[in-house]
Amino acid sequence: MLTSKEKIYIYSNGTSSSKETRRRLEEKLEKSGYSLAKSAGEKPDLIVVIGGDGTLLEAIHKFNFPESQFIGINTGHLGFFQELMPSQLDDFIFNYGQDKFAIQELSTVDINVRTNDCYFTHTGLNEIAIKGSDNHSIHLNMSIDGSFIQRFSGDGVVIATPAGSTAYNYSLGGSIVDPRVNVLQLTPIAPMNTIAYRSFTSSILLPPELTLGISPDIRTDKKPIRIIFDGYYKEYSDIKSMEVSMGTRTIKLLRFENYDFWEKVKSKFLL
Ligand code: NAP
Ligand code: MN
Repeated sequence: MLTSKEKIYIYSNGTSSSKETRRRLEEKLEKSGYSLAKSAGEKPDLIVVIGGDGTLLEAIHKFNFPESQFIGINTGHLGFFQELMPSQLDDFIFNYGQDKFAIQELSTVDINVRTNDCYFTHTGLNEIAIKGSDNHSIHLNMSIDGSFIQRFSGDGVVIATPAGSTAYNYSLGGSIVDPRVNVLQLTPIAPMNTIAYRSFTSSILLPPELTLGISPDIRTDKKPIRIIFDGYYKEYSDIKSMEVSMGTRTIKLLRFENYDFWEKVKSKFLL
């Protein structure tokens, strides 16, 4: 049964299992009457991403956080975002045709960077990380909703969304956040605590309406700062200030009947 969701775009990485899965999926979708978009610019209803989490992040950035819904088929390593295995293509097409899915809407995180003469915005689905570009520590003044909180010294900070809480944030000792709790998590990377430098050593949770202000301390402000968004990055050497807040866009992931966030956590981290 065909509904209005007719146009599907497939994005895959180059591994042989992804290519094979793609070939099988294209055949099955065409047989079921779906039309395949030639580019994501055609505003497809659904983008199927074949690969790992990294491939899903790549597609999201390449297509600039589109309105289209996403579904991931895991041929990668972890596959936390990925909902299906390559063996489930028939089930997927059947359930999709029957509207038997839920949409998980994931928050993003935005950083606005103000330099001497310009203004830039970057968005992450997992996180924004701020680090130095060399092996020196960086020093950052941080405020929450305009009031000064700490001068952070260390390798840098990660500001993770709930979706990204299981990625870099978790490796740093941050908390796993159920995506139904809408918070941003500020997690330090190797914070320094000596009589010379004092920084928070644990994660801080911020409600979605607050803005985190960050500016390079005098010790850092001549050195390049690297802003990393889901692994992609840009370096700036003339940052005046940065503002991090809940992103203005969201990503919509299809989830099928048996999806449960904590089952997913258990299966990917504990089993
Ligand atoms: P990568 O370095 O190849 O990926 C690192 C691992 O993170 C992969 O196993 C990836 O899964 C997994 N991953 C990505 N998003 C996740 C999520 N939301 N929850 C749980 N695991 C997740 O780089 P990548 O594949 O392009 O992914 C970029 C992400 O890597 C960044 O956003 C950052 O969170 C993470 N990262 C982690 C560390 C660390 O843990 N020390 C350091 C740098 C970056 P797949 O195997 O399915 O791709
Ligand atoms: Mn990867």
